[in-house]
Amino acid sequence: MHYVIVGNGVAGTRAAMTIRQRHEPQQARITLISDESPYFFSRTALMYAYMDQLRRRDLEPYEREVYDRQQIERIEAQVVDLDAESKKLTLDDGRVITFDRCLLAVGAGPRMIDFQGLDDVEDGLVHFVSLQDLDTCERLTWSTDHAVVVGGGLIGVELVECFRHHGLQVTFLVREPYYWPAAFAEEEGQMISEHIRSHGVDLCHETQLASIETDSRGRVSAVVTEDDEQIQCQMLGIAIGVVPRVNWLRDVATPPAIGAGLRVNRAFETSLPGVYGAGDCIEIELDPKKEPLHEPIWYAARRHGELAARSMLDDDISYEPPIFYNSSKFFDIEYTTVGEVQDLPAGTNTLYRRKPDAAVSQRIVVDGDNCVLGFSMLGSRWDHTVLTRWIKENRSLDFVRRNLPDAQFDVEFGRVDLDSFNEEMRTL
Ligand SMILES: Cc1cc2nc3c(=O)[nH]c(=O)nc-3n(C[C@H](O)[C@H](O)[C@H](O)COP(=O)(O)OP(=O)(O)OC[C@H]3O[C@@H](n4cnc5c(N)ncnc54)[C@H](O)[C@@H]3O)c2cc1C
Repeated sequence: MHYVIVGNGVAGTRAAMTIRQRHEPQQARITLISDESPYFFSRTALMYAYMDQLRRRDLEPYEREVYDRQQIERIEAQVVDLDAESKKLTLDDGRVITFDRCLLAVGAGPRMIDFQGLDDVEDGLVHFVSLQDLDTCERLTWSTDHAVVVGGGLIGVELVECFRHHGLQVTFLVREPYYWPAAFAEEEGQMISEHIRSHGVDLCHETQLASIETDSRGRVSAVVTEDDEQIQCQMLGIAIGVVPRVNWLRDVATPPAIGAGLRVNRAFETSLPGVYGAGDCIEIELDPKKEPLHEPIWYAARRHGELAARSMLDDDISYEPPIFYNSSKFFDIEYTTVGEVQDLPAGTNTLYRRKPDAAVSQRIVVDGDNCVLGFSMLGSRWDHTVLTRWIKENRSLDFVRRNLPDAQFDVEFGRVDLDSFNEEMRTL
């Protein structure tokens, strides 16, 4: 059986390792194809490489020998065609790879808008998604005094932090009235905005990019906002989200069903026999009456990869999304979120606790029966396994408040004194 996996990110690599754990090389030949890098690396750690805190090699979670030891073949090329009937993939160098089962784990790429002036840009415009983006950022940093970053999400703020680390002046254009409404209520969003500003960033809310200006060599020289303000800059970071890298699949010999992403069922099967999908590129049809689920985060991609591999190995898989969890940071503010904290139904109660004069807060969401539904914790570190357990156990707000210290990480990172907080309970 030849298992061919397109994309060696966390989803694809996890799938390869899962197949190998089950079957010896004589039973299962595994090939991993990537057009980005010969070895799996941690995309979430890109910023630490840019800030010179990690070497490129340190981004790779596995020793390189592992691939040979586990007999996982690697191909560096772009897949340009898929024929599910003859079970063939075509690469951009003309090679044809046959498969018995194929996993498409092709990830997501930067979302882009056709800004005025974009056609004239030859250099100076960057995204921050791939290793090639990191190369471009590193090449341009030393000839840049002022950078503009557009887009107030997770990747935007990471790019801003990297630019500040290298001593650049940074203007951060964010369309929304406060930082990241998709994840935060106004209080948290404003707290993070203040924190970003305290790091010397010129953060402009409710400001949108209208056009890009270039110099005689085509390098970005300025941007103009929709309020007609011109900002001189030599680098422009566009971080307005990511989209599944599935467009190429619309034109292949046997196109799979595609919506906003590659459509899969609960067993990670696409509409094509023998072809599966996993990670940032997929949308999962859980319920035909509802919008498909798109989970573009690291832990989800890892889980998809493992389950898709098991499905390819003929295990009976029916995906149930677990309680949501994610963690990140915004400059010095640690962030942990668990369960439901956004798009809450009317009548939901939220308890918001903020430490006076410090960028530390907790939001606890409870349902009408006072059972806890979600947590949004900023400014200190939390053990998501404890918070997840409390949600699963339908714990009451009183219980959670009494036991909150149990969910804090301590020793190495220090606990926050949980007593001196201002509190506000609000019903949505
Ligand atoms: C800067 C940054 C920070 C992030 N921080 C966080 C975070 O803090 N927490 C979190 O949960 N998530 C974070 N994410 C998201 C997380 O990294 C992704 O959800 C995860 O990496 C997705 O893994 P994947 O395997 O699905 O896809 P990817 O890692 O994107 O891998 C897909 C691979 O397939 C390759 N490929 C695509 N098309 C082809 C083709 N036709 N032929 C060959 N190869 C192809 C791509 O080049 C890529 O190498 C971050 C993302 C970025 C960019």
